Amino acid sequence: MRKQFAVIGLGRFGSSVCRELYKLGHDVLAIDMNEEKVNNLTQFSTHSVIANGTDENALQSLGIRNFDFVNVAIGDNIQSSILCTLILKEMGVTNVWVKAQNYYHHRVLEKIGADRIVHPEQDMGIRIAQHIVSEKIIDYIELSDEYSIVELIATEKVSGKSLAQLDIRAKFGCTILAIKRDKDINISPFPSSLIEEKDILIVIGHKNDLKRFEEEGL
Ligand code: ADP
Repeated sequence: MRKQFAVIGLGRFGSSVCRELYKLGHDVLAIDMNEEKVNNLTQFSTHSVIANGTDENALQSLGIRNFDFVNVAIGDNIQSSILCTLILKEMGVTNVWVKAQNYYHHRVLEKIGADRIVHPEQDMGIRIAQHIVSEKIIDYIELSDEYSIVELIATEKVSGKSLAQLDIRAKFGCTILAIKRDKDINISPFPSSLIEEKDILIVIGHKNDLKRFEEEGL
């Protein structure tokens, strides 16, 4: 069944979320109180509406409680972001994801029941820094304080070797989840799967183990 999504606040972050969800084939309701922002999204959403995310009646009349997922992407106005989140949770929306501006904003959102709090600027900053420090790291996703998933470029050192030969899990304690080669992606590589130079390895593990693998194994 297709899921129903709503995005409240169509700045750079909210509009990107909205466009991507729509591109992926979902129903997306785009909401902002700024007419221009709403007009910019008409072609990239199922419906786009001018409304204030802190107006309970407006949200009710849009039937927001029936949405599977609501993303509050109100940027600088922390007060509005908090109030909007509170209203959505009180209405019973199951999944409310909110963009937080800072640590205090995050803590308040946590207290009022936001289901997931995101810090896109910080997260992207970390990912870009990881890429800058090592050319082998293409992307980086933090799972917890200790564990991550990284995309690493296979170097000549491992080219032509199978996963069994490399024995990465025993030697480094990390696991190769998938191997990307151009447009193909092998999501359950066998021990016999061969790695070629420039393949992208998607690897999960403890941060220390991943670092060791990147520095010594590749
Ligand atoms: P970003 O950093 O993602 O670009 P912005 O702060 O520029 O974030 O954008 C936030 C958006 O949220 C703006 O388009 C603004 O009009 C909208 N917005 C702010 N307050 C409300 C509100 N109460 N209801 C709906 N939209 C809001």
